Amino acid sequence: MQTIVDILGPDGPLAKHVPGFAARSQQQDMAEATARALENNEMLIAEAGTGTGKTYAYLVPALLYSQECDRKVMISTGTKNLQDQLFHRDLPTVRKALGVSTSVALLKGRANYLCHHRLEKVEGQRLRPEQQDQLARVRTWLGRTTCGDIAELGAVPEDAPIWPKVTSTMDNCLGGECPVYSDCFVVKARKSAQAADVLVVNHHLFFADLALRDEGFGELLPGINAFIFDEAHQLPDVASTFFGSNLSARQLNELARDALVDVLTEARDADAVQASITRLEKAVRDFRLALGNDTKRAPWASMDDNVVLATATEDLLESLVRLESDLEPLAERGKGLERSWRRCLDLKARLGQFVNGGSDEQGVIQWFETHVRGFALHMTPLEISETFRSHVDKHKSAWIFTSATLAVGDDFTHFSRELGIEDAHARRWDSPFDFAKQALLYVPAALPPTQYTGLHDGGDRRRATRDRGQRRSCLFSAYQLPRAEHCCP
Ligand code: SF4
Repeated sequence: MQTIVDILGPDGPLAKHVPGFAARSQQQDMAEATARALENNEMLIAEAGTGTGKTYAYLVPALLYSQECDRKVMISTGTKNLQDQLFHRDLPTVRKALGVSTSVALLKGRANYLCHHRLEKVEGQRLRPEQQDQLARVRTWLGRTTCGDIAELGAVPEDAPIWPKVTSTMDNCLGGECPVYSDCFVVKARKSAQAADVLVVNHHLFFADLALRDEGFGELLPGINAFIFDEAHQLPDVASTFFGSNLSARQLNELARDALVDVLTEARDADAVQASITRLEKAVRDFRLALGNDTKRAPWASMDDNVVLATATEDLLESLVRLESDLEPLAERGKGLERSWRRCLDLKARLGQFVNGGSDEQGVIQWFETHVRGFALHMTPLEISETFRSHVDKHKSAWIFTSATLAVGDDFTHFSRELGIEDAHARRWDSPFDFAKQALLYVPAALPPTQYTGLHDGGDRRRATRDRGQRRSCLFSAYQLPRAEHCCP
């Protein structure tokens, strides 16, 4: 019987099936460590330098473990592009080389799947010519897609304005009450994820569900025997975002748009609510203007003295209060109206929470970001280690974290402390490349001064940064703060 080392060796199946494959001792070693962690239900932090081939180093043991032990494995990647690459390229290659029949599935967040119900609803809406053209392409594609993953339709970019109109959010999905539930692409994707031996997700989807944001993946978690996170250095930042709370102009505008469609279809005689919707849209625009013209990220406290913003905030809150009270009596006239009312209640509560609460002392940082037309308000926890660890303890499985950048030198303390997994085994493998001979370093002249992006590694660097008056960004927070004191007490 072939060992993992043989499989990834110069005469193994990978070398036979993958053009240009080169056996590397670092890859073989990491694959063995991964196999051990899987078999023993352990936590492993694995840093592997560039060129190690870490994807195969975890895919080979993961596929064999799933096949031989009849176990379910979840692999999470940093981005949707990496997710697609893993699912469409690396997984089929390794499966074929190993000759295993392990079933695999790809699951993304619901915003990545066409929603039949919203596609029907968009018919009655006025669209700009560019959006009408995109809608026509979406309809043609609907005739040939089997999974409804919008990444398939390359002719319509992922940030095209038509997509939010024809994909669902947890707020506007009708769930089991949907008239086209049996055709729903989100439901189909979840079913195939449920049935698969190896499931590929991304960190955002994983944390959205861990934080009970109902992307419909949460119900899969109890059945998973091993979690593997690639690009694991991103986990603390992504976790902070999802374990916090946020409110955006997009959510508010979508509420206004959907509520108007619901009123027009379910309660045409309700004139007052139409006026409240218009008022909300105006309040969102005014609030954005009050945050200033530039696009930026900043602490909410930096706007304390802004009188215009204080008024705009009051107006926004008041417009949500008014819309909610107008929608409440209409909620029983239709499912759409009932959902819009509940969404309005939720957004009103979130804005109220943001306006009234949150401070460093309570373990939460309040900050905001502005885009050309939109904004988002965030309440981000300073510490996520306890929360993350509680989920690890709840799922008695193997937990494997890998990336090319997890340690500081040989020390994994920073990463493991952030996630509350200080008791995990940690290993690192150097790159097989001889950088002195195989790499060239170009340093452009006239680079701007250094900005630290990284580590809470002691006061000296922090003080040096502060003394030079530079902006500093850090892993501790996913955003830039103008003063280091905010995150480095
Ligand atoms: S169940 Fe939700 S996502 Fe699926 S088609 Fe209906 S509204 Fe859209």
